[in-house]
Amino acid sequence: MSLTAEVPARATPREEASRTYAVVIVGTGFSGVGMGIALKKAGLHNFLMLEKAGRVGGTWRENTYPGCACDIRSHLYSYSFEPKTDWSREFASQPEILGYIEHCVDKYGLRPHIRFGAQITGAEYDDDAAVWTVSTADGGTVRFRGQDITGAPSHRVCRLGIGRTFQLVSVFGTMSVMENMLVAAQQHQEEDLVRRFVRSPRLRGLEQQAIERAQLLLELVGLSAHSADLAGHLSYGERKLLAFAAALMPEPALLLLDEPAAAINPTMIRQMMEHVRSLHAHGTTVLLVEHNMDVVMDISERVIVLDHGQKIAEGSPAEIRRDPRVIEAYFGR
Ligand SMILES: Cc1cc2nc3c(=O)[nH]c(=O)nc-3n(C[C@H](O)[C@H](O)[C@H](O)COP(=O)(O)OP(=O)(O)OC[C@H]3O[C@@H](n4cnc5c(N)ncnc54)[C@H](O)[C@@H]3O)c2cc1C
Repeated sequence: MSLTAEVPARATPREEASRTYAVVIVGTGFSGVGMGIALKKAGLHNFLMLEKAGRVGGTWRENTYPGCACDIRSHLYSYSFEPKTDWSREFASQPEILGYIEHCVDKYGLRPHIRFGAQITGAEYDDDAAVWTVSTADGGTVRFRGQDITGAPSHRVCRLGIGRTFQLVSVFGTMSVMENMLVAAQQHQEEDLVRRFVRSPRLRGLEQQAIERAQLLLELVGLSAHSADLAGHLSYGERKLLAFAAALMPEPALLLLDEPAAAINPTMIRQMMEHVRSLHAHGTTVLLVEHNMDVVMDISERVIVLDHGQKIAEGSPAEIRRDPRVIEAYFGR
């Protein structure tokens, strides 16, 4: 294998799958991009950069909250070989840093080496052959309402109409219950930073709408009495209900729930499931990942069963109950 062979600009995933590279770089954050440039500078061109997202930038692609910036001086937070003399601030903001990374990627010709939407799922080293075999997820695409959203940033996915909750409850403990709800109110907010500071009647109207929706949802999940309390003071089950209500703030068309019934008491499970039923009745599609088989069988129209990451069955709850592979894997013989 020649170390100087160029990676073809349009290698298909199938071609790439059978290729051998001198180096595979995981990710296109600051580290991955720096490594790619260093390899090129050293004359080594036979490398591949695998990036699970759809854009370079790593942490500077993922974090887009207002005010996001580096915390060491910009002239130090850049590659020494690619100084930037016109940082607009001493501590550059996220969009500027992301722009800098993209500039470097283009200037040093890294794009042909990058495969986006390629999540590394395994890496095995063969001692005898002295090679790594790197596996990636199947490279399929995620489409929602006709749009390819593979690797799209979370805020875009949210604005397109997908909401989600997390298995481990993720609420802002030092913010009030109401503030947690308002943080989630994506389309009720002004996107333009300057307009957020100018208290226009339009902005006040948007905020009022968001507050009214938050009150309605808190009422629905039985948390309105806690509206002014710190979220960190709620019980675990209540925090789960808060995360659920917050996920509904942007009025998602598709709601992804990751183990909503885990670690909460039976009364709360029933409560949560009633909310899911009512959402579904009002036209929201709900995708539930859940280990509690009673919940799954009670609430689902269609069930997909995975065992060790492999799909072993799909069908109605009644079909799943009778499926011998499911009985063996989940219910035991
Ligand atoms: C707000 C904020 C401010 C910061 N300020 C500073 C600062 O001032 N100074 C400083 O030194 N550091 C700072 N950091 C730390 C920052 O994370 C690092 O400086 C640096 O950007 C990390 O780069 P990285 O490439 O190592 O990782 P990341 O930027 O996290 O990039 C990793 C990349 O790998 C991809 N990836 C991960 N797993 C897989 C997989 N299995 N398959 C394929 N792709 C994968 C990810 O999608 C991502 O694109 C800050 C971080 C934040 C969030």
